[in-house]
Amino acid sequence: MLLFTPGPTPVSEEIRLEMAKPTIHHRTSEFEAYFAQAQKKLKELLKMPEVLMLASSGSGAMEACVLGLCSKKLLSINSGKFGERFGKIAKAYAIENVEIKNNWDTPVSVEEVLDILQKNPEIDALSIQVCESAGGLRHPVEEVARAVKNFNPDIMVIVDAITAMGVEEIDVIHIDALIGGSQKAFMLPPGMSIIGLSQKGIQKVEQRNIGFYFNLKTELKNQRANTTAWTAPTTLVIGLVKYFEQVESIGGIQTIYAHTKKRAIATQSALVSIGMKIYPKKPALAMTTIFNETYASDIRKVLKSDFDVNVAGGQDELKTSILRINHMGIIAINEALWVVNAIELALDKLGIRKFDGQANIVFLQNYFA
Ligand SMILES: *Cc1c(COP(=O)(O)O)cnc(C)c1O
Repeated sequence: MLLFTPGPTPVSEEIRLEMAKPTIHHRTSEFEAYFAQAQKKLKELLKMPEVLMLASSGSGAMEACVLGLCSKKLLSINSGKFGERFGKIAKAYAIENVEIKNNWDTPVSVEEVLDILQKNPEIDALSIQVCESAGGLRHPVEEVARAVKNFNPDIMVIVDAITAMGVEEIDVIHIDALIGGSQKAFMLPPGMSIIGLSQKGIQKVEQRNIGFYFNLKTELKNQRANTTAWTAPTTLVIGLVKYFEQVESIGGIQTIYAHTKKRAIATQSALVSIGMKIYPKKPALAMTTIFNETYASDIRKVLKSDFDVNVAGGQDELKTSILRINHMGIIAINEALWVVNAIELALDKLGIRKFDGQANIVFLQNYFA
């Protein structure tokens, strides 16, 4: 079965074999060397002064950032389930929250953000996704972050880049916390989250010094010494070092960014050419989301039963009306091609459109343009 869901992504054999080696203790110089290497590579990738690795899924890092960086009022951008989650975290900690809520296909605008900031001078943090995975949309994160910092440089900008880290270059100049997760573009099993911090972000978490398991001040102190406050997710850290070796072996992260972009655009063009509608108004590169109220779940079923392809459906009200196809990670072009071809075959099978190989042709023309 080809796993083409936007998280979890497949774990390569190289990484699986590396993680299959005998367990080592986390308080040893042997593990600290792995940790130091993973941290160095992450700092290079994110271009931020500090990077933390936590034993948690992505939501744990989201929670840690809200707690560590926001004390008065959070402005959360909600264009889907993950944006909504930041508001729920604020609520759980009794932090005041104001939300900008849009349809799941609609990115936030800078004007909306400035309007809310002007009306709510107590706001001390903003949260946003680079890619809101509920509908696969790309928020204008860089523009929003710049506008927030122009308005008030003390407002913390918390960015969930769980489906953007390792997918595309993110300009972090106005970002204070950048969040990643092991099970997305890093092609690792779930269980480790990543937080990049700006200088201002570091100051803030040190000054707040709040929380227990997710106390980012405690983590900073430990991780600066190449260890973790609690037991580290050792296997995942070792897997991450291997991921970076794999990235190097195929030409570095810029090559991955370029390939991912080509695959995403080729996939979108191919599917549009066979009559499919792209769901978000501004699609992210991490995934292609197709909207088809009548057939999305039938297409998904046929992909699974007849062509061994596993793509994701939607959540909540979009459960049966969208399909999400992953582009994160290192993916062989023949596999991506298999997926678009299988979708065209599924359309034929369902009597929607006669198969003529169009998706294949358009994919290849775009990819090799
Ligand atoms: C996957 C994902 C998360 C993390 O969810 P977990 O299940 O906690 O790992 C958060 N934000 C986005 C945008 C995601 O795609």
